[in-house]
Amino acid sequence: MTIGFIGLGHMGGPMAANLVKAGHAVNGFDLSQPLLDEASSKGVTACDSLAEAVAGVDTVITMLPAGKHVLSVWQELLVMVPSGTLLIDCSTIDIDSARMAHDLAAGKGCPSLDAPVSGGTGGAAAGTLTFMIGGEQAVFSKSQPVFEAMGKRIIHCGDATAGQAAKICNNMILGISMIAVGEAFVLGEKLGLSHQALYDVASVSSGQCWSLTTYCPVPGPVPTSPANNDYKPGFAGALMLKDLKLSQEAAQSAGAITPLGAKAAELYTLFNELGNADKDFSGIIDMLRQKSGGTA
Ligand code: NAD
Repeated sequence: MTIGFIGLGHMGGPMAANLVKAGHAVNGFDLSQPLLDEASSKGVTACDSLAEAVAGVDTVITMLPAGKHVLSVWQELLVMVPSGTLLIDCSTIDIDSARMAHDLAAGKGCPSLDAPVSGGTGGAAAGTLTFMIGGEQAVFSKSQPVFEAMGKRIIHCGDATAGQAAKICNNMILGISMIAVGEAFVLGEKLGLSHQALYDVASVSSGQCWSLTTYCPVPGPVPTSPANNDYKPGFAGALMLKDLKLSQEAAQSAGAITPLGAKAAELYTLFNELGNADKDFSGIIDMLRQKSGGTA
């Protein structure tokens, strides 16, 4: 396939490189020249403009910071591409913007998918991302080779915006569960329980969850978790807060009651305000410990 890839940042850069590895011809565009140079060294054709990047392609992928960027880029490029061009947005964005993006594409006769990812920068580099996809079944089926080049698990979640819905619901669970696991370790410390003992029990009991067994927020029990590396991300506190805010916006507009999601958003707001935006989100345990009068 011939693909225009817009947004070559932490995620988009390695994703575009994996498309090249899989044999696709990829035109890349980003506002940052160093990122264009980096992509070019991986076989992406670096383009000087959006127009150049989307000229003659059959598919356009966007990987941008937020809904406003996606809408502005899609508005601009839809004037340039012929109808029938497939548009895929892999960014994590709010549901309303995702809906508007699908509507813009449909207005031009272009099929579209929302396809946010999980797996972080490691998954983007290794080509092992999970894709959560919203859009028509036929469009999804046709676009499989594109996703297979960048990911390992590719899940069609339903119609337009279902991918974004799955992403923010999953990350709301993640934010809440990381706080729960952190609270349990801090309480355990106060009760004289070792980290390892709590891990050994909870990891085979009903407290078991990904935040505990893959991403354990204390050093030791899971040697690969960011806690063993001074909470270097991983998944930064700023990104967790972004996703929790998106889930709260969605909950409000859909009329869902999500009190723990709201509390998690509040606690991650504080975590970010305390200067932890660049730290892994599991570092929130230090904030909980300090609030309990302990030291990290
Ligand atoms: P990033 O900031 O590194 O990359 C975004 C890129 O978009 C930047 O390089 C920026 O220059 C470019 N850009 C912005 N406006 C543009 C425009 N008009 N034209 C061309 N390029 C433009 O962000 P990232 O970490 O790669 O994340 C991208 C998306 O993926 C976000 O929506 C994020 O929430 C989501 N995401 C990130 C991670 C992660 O671990 N980083 C994990 C899952 C999902």
